[in-house]
This record gives sequence, structure tokens and C-alpha cells, in this order.
Amino acid sequence: MNVLEVKNLQKSFGSIRAVQDISFSVEAGEVFTIIGPNGAGKTTTLEMIEGLVTPDHGEIHFGEMNWGHHAVAIKMKIGVQPQSSAMFDLLTPEENLDLFATFYEKARPTAEILELINLTEHRKNQVKKLSGGQRQRLAIGLAMISDPDIIFLDEPTTGLDPQARRHIWDIILELKKLGKTTILTTHYMEEAEKLSDRVCIVDQGNIVTIDTPSALIEKLTKEREVRLSFLDGEKAAEEGAIFADNLNSVARTEREGAVLKLWTIKPEDTLLELFKFTKEKEFQVEQVSIREMSLEDVFIAFTGKEWRD
Ligand code: ATP
Repeated sequence: MNVLEVKNLQKSFGSIRAVQDISFSVEAGEVFTIIGPNGAGKTTTLEMIEGLVTPDHGEIHFGEMNWGHHAVAIKMKIGVQPQSSAMFDLLTPEENLDLFATFYEKARPTAEILELINLTEHRKNQVKKLSGGQRQRLAIGLAMISDPDIIFLDEPTTGLDPQARRHIWDIILELKKLGKTTILTTHYMEEAEKLSDRVCIVDQGNIVTIDTPSALIEKLTKEREVRLSFLDGEKAAEEGAIFADNLNSVARTEREGAVLKLWTIKPEDTLLELFKFTKEKEFQVEQVSIREMSLEDVFIAFTGKEWRD
């Protein structure tokens, strides 16, 4: 079931066409991630959907509801992660949550939200004393206080260290378990790959492609890169390359010193053959790795640009 549908969204700021033509729909319960480089139009898209920015053109539907006729009902249905400037620094997380709860007719108990965002222990510390990651977790908690069905998180992990980022991922996965729909923006490919049911890649105000992370990667190629490094040095890698070149499953090979790289659609079969060969030759293999294509490879393939976080 679609909980959100946007059609042909457009928005310009003076001569800057921030969003040129964006259409997509989001299913109930999914994590839908909009990913793109700086200035791609992610925040503007989100803010139009959240009712904070008026589109120049296009339609936004939450099921049967739209901002023109059902603004109050939509506000009850969605939760928006506030900017950290919207939090009260001199109050505690508990007090901030209690305060935000008074804005709504129905609110989730503060203690439950504190558990969800793993801030129970810090509930009585002033917000100004929290770390960046803890503040971001509180921002997600504030978006959750009205117990919305759809949660919007705009770059919730930007600027956080890897551990703090993982704590946020845990919360997003927990929201999914609760049956919530999450619409996320991020700069981080790894994050999109780990969390999303579907990824929407945007660049220069347009959608480049939308699909599940695995289908996007599959679309790109089924080939895997296999690397073997030999303890016996270059000679062994060279012989390995000659052997691999003659295997049907191998598309191409490369050699760098004692490392043999090859590309194959059947990594298991290829490795089996190669190990038979190295055993026969009594070569010692030091390391083996199989590299899957990543979303970053997909981005580069679709846009022709290098990805920068
Ligand atoms: P980032 O990842 O850097 O947050 P983004 O993908 O969220 O980028 P937007 O913030 O939507 O991109 O910005 C898209 C373009 O529109 C940028 O060129 C930005 O400078 C411009 N822009 C956004 N908001 C405004 C505004 N209020 N006034 C003028 N220009 C704006």
C-alpha cells in the first residue's frame, strides 16, 4: 500500500533549479532513502513533502490526503526530525520530549521514547551537555513523540563518528520493526545500502534511478572481483593468471605483483578451479577476497561521476 506519492515536484530558488522533476511513491513500512551529492535537492524535496516549502509545481498525496485540504490530519500522521536548533539546550531530553508531547493530542510515553533512542541514562542531563550523536538521537525521539506512521529524517548521521552513526542505524531498524515508514536522506552510500528497502538516487534535482539496493547492484553487473595474493610471489601470480584466463567462468584478469585479480560471474566455481591449480603447483595462497559491487559503483555507472561523501 502506498502511503506517499509525489508527482513531478519542481522547485526553483531564483535561477537555481533545486528540484527539476521528482516523482516517486513510498510503501507502508519501508525505509525509503534519497541519496545524492551536496546540492542535489534532497532537503528541498523533503521539505516540500513535509509541507515546509511550497512546490512550484507537482502533487503530494498521503493516501487520499493532500496539504491543500488535510493539513491537520497529515501533521498527525507524520513526524519530522527537528533541526537541533529547535531543541531547548537548557532543558533535559526528558523535559524536551515532555514539552513536545504537549503539542499533540496523543503522544507516546516519554519513557518509551527514551528507551527507543537509548537515552534513558542521559534523560536528566541538559541537552547542551549531550554529544552530537545523542542530540541526533533526541531529534529522532522528538519526531517520534506523536507516534506518527511516517518519519522523515534528513541526514541524521551527517558529521557523526562511525559508532554514533551505527546507533542511529539501530534506531531506524527499530522503527521498521515497529511498522513505521521512514524516509531518509543521506550522503553515505554504505548507510543507504544497509538500511534501505529502496534507494532513490538524485543528482541535480532529478532522479537518476530508484530500486532496491541489491537490484541496483544486480542491474549494474553480476560480475564479482576476486583477488588472490600468493606467498610465492609474482611468478605464481603470473602462472595463476594464465590458468585463470583459460577458464570459461573468467571474464578477464589483471596482475599486480604477487596479486592476481580476476572478474567472474561464478566466483565459487572459479575459486574451486584455482585452488585445484594452486594445490597441484604447491603454490601458497596468502589471501583471498571476493568484492561485491557497491552502491557507489552504481552511482558512478549511472552518473559518470565519482562519489564524494
Ligand atoms: P545537501 O546534501 O548539501 O544538504 P541537498 O541535496 O539537500 O544538499 P538542497 O539543500 O535541497 O540539496 O539544495 C538544492 C539546491 O538549492 C542547492 O543549490 C541549494 O544551494 C539551493 N537552495 C536550497 N534552499 C535554498 C534557498 N532557501 N534559497 C536559495 N537556494 C536554495
